[in-house]
Amino acid sequence: MDLLEYQGKQLFARHGVAVPQGRLAVSVDEALAAADDIGYPCVIKAQVQIGGRGKAGGIKVANDRDEARAHAQAILGMDIRGLTVHELWIEEASEIAAEYYASVVFDRSAKAPLLMLSTKGGMDIEEVAAEDPHAIARLHVDPLLGFQDFHGRRLAFVAGVDDDVVRQIGGMLAKLYEVFVAEEATLVEVNPLIVTPGAQDGAGRGVRALDAKVTLDDNAMFRHPDNAQLRDISAEDPQERMAKERGLTFVKLDGDIGILGNGAGLVMSTLDVVAEAGGSPANFLDAGGGSKAEAITSAVEVILSNPKVKAVLFNIFGGITRCDEVARGLIEAFHQVNPQVPFVVRLDGTNDKEGRALLAEAKLPNVHTEATMDDAARRVVELAAASSNGNAA
Ligand code: GDP
Ligand code: MN
Repeated sequence: MDLLEYQGKQLFARHGVAVPQGRLAVSVDEALAAADDIGYPCVIKAQVQIGGRGKAGGIKVANDRDEARAHAQAILGMDIRGLTVHELWIEEASEIAAEYYASVVFDRSAKAPLLMLSTKGGMDIEEVAAEDPHAIARLHVDPLLGFQDFHGRRLAFVAGVDDDVVRQIGGMLAKLYEVFVAEEATLVEVNPLIVTPGAQDGAGRGVRALDAKVTLDDNAMFRHPDNAQLRDISAEDPQERMAKERGLTFVKLDGDIGILGNGAGLVMSTLDVVAEAGGSPANFLDAGGGSKAEAITSAVEVILSNPKVKAVLFNIFGGITRCDEVARGLIEAFHQVNPQVPFVVRLDGTNDKEGRALLAEAKLPNVHTEATMDDAARRVVELAAASSNGNAA
């Protein structure tokens, strides 16, 4: 699960990572109240789960109330690479002496967290990596020993961090590592991590996280109920959310033929065969091995919740899954949701005869059985083409 910048910064703050003070706003009025409270200059930042907001015009400094209003009006509702801005983070402006990059990411091949540090922050790190790979210092951390002070010193030295901030950068890396472990993240990235200029009164330079990109491990979310609530509901597709709540493996696609199969490999080949027959799948849905009737009924509801769907293809190869259970699930689904679109069903394998017999007996309207995957795909494509309306009609 990816967090928005402000959510990441709130996690940072909880672990002692220095971040600017800020407030969330969902309207121009709220943004103005927040800006007045924080004081000027402040920064108005679009909260969407995508990088490059600065370049897209989603981050603006406001020097006074009028500028804050103009920026909030411009950024709220803005489209940034396909995402609409619904939330703003209003933050005290930071003075920037240098922009660095820091991250902790789980390196699966090394089976260990990887720390990265670069003095070339503020820009796209993939670009830095491509142009000048030596500009990024890397170091694995032994997960059992955890972060050690020398990790910070080594990274700072290799990256070429200014001497006066080495200790602070080390301290920041230690805390970012703590966030990574304690919150069970798979990515913690700060770009830019800024060095703030020293004050007139002789106070030294400081460091703070100006941006935050955090990905939390979904499989560990049950241990972090507070974090689970951070899910950005508005960014999720409602149909995908419905599928997730029902524990189905589902990916929405943009076609009009609903697909249900058992086993990811079979579903993938079903998508291919439908495309080969000239059709366009509306989804990937793997009902899983050993699916019971109830799971099938629930999956049919998810497929039909997409109004674009004009026909549905069931492609079941019975191994652990029993075809008669699938047939029972489909019959139950017809009783519950009364689908308005044709279904093509191919049942093969364990208890396929029983399954087909159940379907024949139930005399479901508009259900067609086919013996092979190719025939089933051709049939469903014909039926989808023949029905002019989706199931919303
Ligand atoms: P991103 O473009 O989505 O990665 O958003 P960032 O939060 O990284 O902001 C992009 C850039 O905006 C930063 O690299 C800074 O140069 C600039 N920026 C953000 N906040 C401030 C601020 O408080 N003061 C100044 N001067 N620049 C800022
Ligand atoms: Mn950034």
